[in-house]
Amino acid sequence: MPILRIAHFPEPVLLEVGKPISDEDFGTDLDTLVEDMFQTMEHAGGVGLAAPQIFESKRLFVMDVPVEDGPRVRHVLINPEIIHVEGEQTGDEGCLSFPGLFQTVKRELRVVVRARDLKNQEFELDVADLAARCILHETDHCDGIVFLDRMSPLKRQLAKRKIKTLQKTGKWN
Ligand SMILES: [Zn+2]
Repeated sequence: MPILRIAHFPEPVLLEVGKPISDEDFGTDLDTLVEDMFQTMEHAGGVGLAAPQIFESKRLFVMDVPVEDGPRVRHVLINPEIIHVEGEQTGDEGCLSFPGLFQTVKRELRVVVRARDLKNQEFELDVADLAARCILHETDHCDGIVFLDRMSPLKRQLAKRKIKTLQKTGKWN
């Protein structure tokens, strides 16, 4: 299984709105792409990876986080749509496109998302905590939004300064 190259900020593909997956897109090629994305995510030690992060401007992502108190479960969300949010959580967040950067981001606590699976079947997930944070983060990627955009202005300034330092010391690529 090939490990795909991960786009690091500020690659333009990260800031583009992903193209929806159409009915004709389902099939072997999409299955392969998703399997490669899982391999790439696991290799990089992440819990979520969206298609724009591997230079595919498409609305889909994979994630591998525990839902409720259960075991880690692989999820593929194609054409994700956030249909309900509530509450609030504050916590540290990382992103495979921002290697070495962890910053506090405020997100909703609970989320209901509607998406399609690899068989083009619609399903909904109703989750909270880390899974909700992951879904919001990855759905943002599908919309060309990165977690930098979700930080407070002060945190964003700090993050940008840290990115510059990481780039200068060659730890960004
Ligand atoms: Zn990310």
